[in-house]
Amino acid sequence: MLMMLFLTLSKDPSSQVDQAFFSERKRQQEDLQATLSHELRSPLAAIKGYVETLLRHEHRLQPEERHDFLLAIADASTRLTGIIQQLLEWSDLETGAVLLTWSQVNVAALTRESLLAAKLRFEQEAHASVSEHTFSLSILDALGLPTLHEPVIEADQQRLREVLEQVLHNALIYSPKGGAIEVVVRLVPSAECQAKIAEKRLSKWSRSHTFTTSSVLEISVRDHGIGIPQQAHERIFDPFGRVDMSLTCEVNGLGLGLVISQRIVALHQGVIWVESEVGQGSTFHIWLPCKKEGL
Ligand code: ADP
Repeated sequence: MLMMLFLTLSKDPSSQVDQAFFSERKRQQEDLQATLSHELRSPLAAIKGYVETLLRHEHRLQPEERHDFLLAIADASTRLTGIIQQLLEWSDLETGAVLLTWSQVNVAALTRESLLAAKLRFEQEAHASVSEHTFSLSILDALGLPTLHEPVIEADQQRLREVLEQVLHNALIYSPKGGAIEVVVRLVPSAECQAKIAEKRLSKWSRSHTFTTSSVLEISVRDHGIGIPQQAHERIFDPFGRVDMSLTCEVNGLGLGLVISQRIVALHQGVIWVESEVGQGSTFHIWLPCKKEGL
């Protein structure tokens, strides 16, 4: 599959293909090579290094040292498994091999579950017992007023959980300890979303999007972290489109999480986009059509 990726991204430009398209492909290829070589090599190098040390010096190592080495091997293996899973999922989404399983989904309940899962993943990765971030979840009605009524929409629960977990996990890793993460679930008239699409040209994925329902359910996740420069707002939804490659050394990731999220939201006939300023934080908005009225 990796060979397929390299070939897809490295086709020669024909004379008709416009230069901007080729430069974009070239940039994607460079991102791909840098990301894959870091993300695959570093866990493999860790596994190889620890296994070789264990084989050579096992009798000289203290039991605690042996245990630490085994933990590091387990961590690196988990990272590699995650990378392979993400690549396979992305490939399935690209080839249209994913079918959604529709059901009635309580979005507020799903957000709470996703938050717990994202926190757990973050704590495992950071080897911290608590994430130290603070969280809030507000549910607003169509007038923007708080409500106890939890909206239910038709969606693929498993896939939507994956999107929420990804965005919440990103909010955790890209914002400081103790930072506030605010989730708002609210009903919005489709016309409002449509106007924003027209006015802001949110991203190439949503430029021509049309909502066919009269209302949209918005889930927004706001953090107060490092933020994303304006010129990268579209790129982060491109495969391997990490903002700053120097970050790759600090935060592990393939730059596929938001791509997979974008594809899943699109399969729901929805839109995901970001509002962000460097140093101020980011708000990821997920818009999903409400198929039934009065939710
Ligand atoms: P990764 O797995 O590499 O984090 P994602 O697809 O989830 O990939 O995100 C792509 C890039 O978008 C990240 O590498 C990061 O640069 C940027 N990003 C995503 N979420 C945030 C956020 N909440 N704050 C700042 N940057 C973010």
